[in-house]
Amino acid sequence: QLIFLNGEFVKKEDAKVSVYDHGFLYGDGVFEGIRVYSGNVFRLKEHLVRLYESAKAILLHIPYTLEEMTAIVVDTIRQNELLDGYIRLVVSRGPGNLGLDPASCPKPNVVVIAEQLALFPKEMYEAGIPIITVATRRNRPDVLSPQVKSLNYLNNILVRIEAQLAGVSEALMLNDQGYVTEGSGDNVFVVKGNKIVTPPASCGALEGITRNAIIELAQKLGYDMREELVTRHDVYVADEVFLTGTAAEVISVTNVDGRVIGTGVPGPITNVLLDEFRQLVVRDGEK
Ligand code: PLP
Repeated sequence: QLIFLNGEFVKKEDAKVSVYDHGFLYGDGVFEGIRVYSGNVFRLKEHLVRLYESAKAILLHIPYTLEEMTAIVVDTIRQNELLDGYIRLVVSRGPGNLGLDPASCPKPNVVVIAEQLALFPKEMYEAGIPIITVATRRNRPDVLSPQVKSLNYLNNILVRIEAQLAGVSEALMLNDQGYVTEGSGDNVFVVKGNKIVTPPASCGALEGITRNAIIELAQKLGYDMREELVTRHDVYVADEVFLTGTAAEVISVTNVDGRVIGTGVPGPITNVLLDEFRQLVVRDGEK
């Protein structure tokens, strides 16, 4: 496996950065997770725009243009002869001194990893997954925007730990007002009748690339697709609940905090959207 590290391709064992990197010391940096289907990168432009916007928000200059970064990602896939897999792009503030000041870090580290993806087991899609809501709150949008995919993912990790302690694999994070925002690494959708609702970005949800693709698909299919505030009650009494994300694609949730969702199996609209999404990634690749 070859990893892109600051302009060179190096073997996985040799892909190392300094312990003085502020990404390591302070979580100072940004990242993206991207999917490759049959050798085609799904919505690369959107992922890169999000990466550059995240970097801009934290005043981190990425030493490549978006076009150069596009070529780097494609090259990394080619070097690894990857057909189906996952790409992790990381730009950290780079090595500096032990102080907080980013001015001590003149050279960011740019890393692109392309590897096989450990897919979720098929049974999880067939049965749906149980999740819970947790005490960890989404950071307030006016403090650090949830749109910034920074290397500081402690909230999300705490959500995952709370979930695992409760014996489930994912959980929903509420915002400081108690509205549902998203999972630790996925967006959430709630179906009631013909209406599909996902929390708006303004309440603390990341504008997921998969989320946006599902919104487009739902609109195209004629569903009443809305971005509205979602309460825990809305989730409990929904006909269907599903999560979306680069790794999970579309995964049904059949139990939330012990409440069985709908009939307790993946619902018809979730199944249609998963199917449509899988067709979309093929169609997008043919363009
Ligand atoms: N929410 C958070 C906090 C995430 O980290 C991710 C993953 O990137 C998502 C949602 C899903 O976004 P996407 O569909 O772009 O992978």
